[in-house]
Amino acid sequence: MTDTSSTVNPYNGKPFSSKYFKILEGRQKLPITEAKDQIQRLVRRYQTVLLVGETGSGKTTQVPQFVLEMNPEGAIACTQPRRVPAMSVSERVAEEMDVTLGDEVGYTIRFDDVSSDKTRIKYLTDGMLLREAMTDPLLKKYSVIILDEAHERTVHTDILIGTIKELIPKRPDLRVIVMSATLEEKKFQKYFVDAPLIHISGRMFGVEVYYCRAPESNYVEAAIRTATQIHLYEGPGDILIFLCGEDEIETACERLQNGIVIAEHSSANCHKGPVAVLPLYSSLPPQQQKKVFRAVPEGTRKIVVATNIAETSLTIDGVVFVVDCGFSKQKVFNPKLRIESLLVTPISQASARQRSGRAGRTRPGKCFRLYTRKAYDTLLQPQTHPEILRCNLGSIVLHMKKMGIDDLVHFDFVEPPSPETLMRALELLNYLKALDDDGFMTPAGDQMAVFPVEPEMAAMLIHSPEYKCGTEIAKICAMMSVQNPFIQNNKEFTRSNYAKEQFYHQTGDHLGLLNTYLAYEANDGNIDWCHENYLNHRSMKQAQNVVRQLVGIMRRLGLDMSSDSSADMQFANHIRRAIVRGFFTKVALALPTKNQFITLKDDVKAILWPATFLNRRPQFVVFNELVLTSNQYLRTVTAISDDWLLESCPEYFAVDEFEGVTRQVFEQLHRRQKAEQAPSKKRARAVD
Ligand code: ADP
Ligand code: MG
Repeated sequence: MTDTSSTVNPYNGKPFSSKYFKILEGRQKLPITEAKDQIQRLVRRYQTVLLVGETGSGKTTQVPQFVLEMNPEGAIACTQPRRVPAMSVSERVAEEMDVTLGDEVGYTIRFDDVSSDKTRIKYLTDGMLLREAMTDPLLKKYSVIILDEAHERTVHTDILIGTIKELIPKRPDLRVIVMSATLEEKKFQKYFVDAPLIHISGRMFGVEVYYCRAPESNYVEAAIRTATQIHLYEGPGDILIFLCGEDEIETACERLQNGIVIAEHSSANCHKGPVAVLPLYSSLPPQQQKKVFRAVPEGTRKIVVATNIAETSLTIDGVVFVVDCGFSKQKVFNPKLRIESLLVTPISQASARQRSGRAGRTRPGKCFRLYTRKAYDTLLQPQTHPEILRCNLGSIVLHMKKMGIDDLVHFDFVEPPSPETLMRALELLNYLKALDDDGFMTPAGDQMAVFPVEPEMAAMLIHSPEYKCGTEIAKICAMMSVQNPFIQNNKEFTRSNYAKEQFYHQTGDHLGLLNTYLAYEANDGNIDWCHENYLNHRSMKQAQNVVRQLVGIMRRLGLDMSSDSSADMQFANHIRRAIVRGFFTKVALALPTKNQFITLKDDVKAILWPATFLNRRPQFVVFNELVLTSNQYLRTVTAISDDWLLESCPEYFAVDEFEGVTRQVFEQLHRRQKAEQAPSKKRARAVD
């Protein structure tokens, strides 16, 4: 911490504000402050240091500042697995240092960079640092790299750890600090053999854990009921509820705030103070996210309803009660079916312990688990499986190849992915022509890796100039990358649907999304226009930002961005052909019965997402997502012509690749194509 007696900020020469001193007081009480000298000493002596400490002990906010005080030459990078903490922590640290966010302290996340040449401490998602490593393999810009939340074991963190371990001997001046909560420390010690370990003992208070007597059939209901009971019958202290997704969280918030249940239970001897109910999930606008950290009026109980971003990355002070539903949304990849989905999955015992720990930060607390003791013992895995074992590796493999890591089999992974998943990724990249048959990067792959999007999207971007629709494809990509722009209003169902109809395109959702974007542009991004038309203004604004970035990259790569939109329907066809060039591995065939489609090669049966623009049943659709809920749905779909499939990647659609009903269709298709080609050849000869 900066010298407390000084009244002038050494970073910008301005006098410190009164807020600075107030925050400083709190910072000095954090458990990590006691370890400051030790941390600085070890960082001076060792190239790699491991730092383990309870959530809330001050790792993320303080350690970069401790290191900055050591006056390193270059900048300090501090990685975060998630976007929200990267933003919110950098803002907090800018406040702590009394500087403007984006100057000395900044952040970089996908599609959003708030940093400058002045920036000394930069919080960034681990994916962004990997991206920087693609163009600057030695990461020369940084003198210190802090890998934070390493225990989360996201695939990006895992790859970064491996990459940085290789980098250490090449950059003797570099300092690396690997920080994590108390999970997984043994694994990291084994991996970084010579690194000293600093243990920060947090001041944790005891947490009493309560289980349900019988399994709960509906954990959202159970959570609402439990929180209500706590509010009525327990003493003061804030409540943190863990649920799985935005919808559940919004439902619970509405119900709790309206106090429906509270009214029913009110009796003379219960507490009836007001509550402030606040949601917390990653797609929430930053202004609203910030509210969870703010103090509420005396006598009001704060109830935060969050996803697992509140499990370790964000600390909310004042929580005394935790309600844990026992589930979280996790990425699950099925390499056989090539489906990656976000599924509501039971958490691990380690996660459950982390969650309950959130209740004991300021004083003894209570944790209510909405599952039975038996379920905890028998159903929950001891540890969460690292993401690398359960996600699609397409873009990761492409990035690794771009960084020059050609031998993936011998890469020093903290934990290697399954060979099958790796094979699937290599196979996809080979079909997309990003890798050649020997697994080496092609010039096309080299271009694709520059785009911060999945390989399928990158492929359609780089092929779009062939169809003279580069700008349009960039707009479609942007709309596919942001949160759903259509606001579904249940109360005004007809009106919101009617509004959506204006953007309708007969070929389906991709062009519908493009229409929506074009209408937004035509209305100068007007916020009132968005509201009137049931569009999420934030999503639209973000899409505009993404378009700017994608078009910028395309121009830098020298891609032709001219558009030929003279003939309307023909232009739509060109756009669809460009889409197929990227997404030909995500195609489904209509089955004769029950509105069903079947995905090619994996043979998953699914129906179209109800909110699709497509209101007929073409033989083939290209889709962006296969969603597994109670039903299987294809989401973001567009009708396509079978000719385009064969043109996009003949070897992928060879007859021998198919079985059953799809094989028959492709046999016919190939026969037809041969027949069509034959007479045209004769004609060509005749002209000769
Ligand atoms: P750790 O990384 O060890 O989990 P942090 O450095 O994130 O701990 O948090 C340390 C303390 O900083 C928290 O206990 C909290 O009091 C405070 N803090 C962190 N982020 C914010 C924020 N956005 N607003 C207010 N206080 C915050
Ligand atoms: Mg942290």
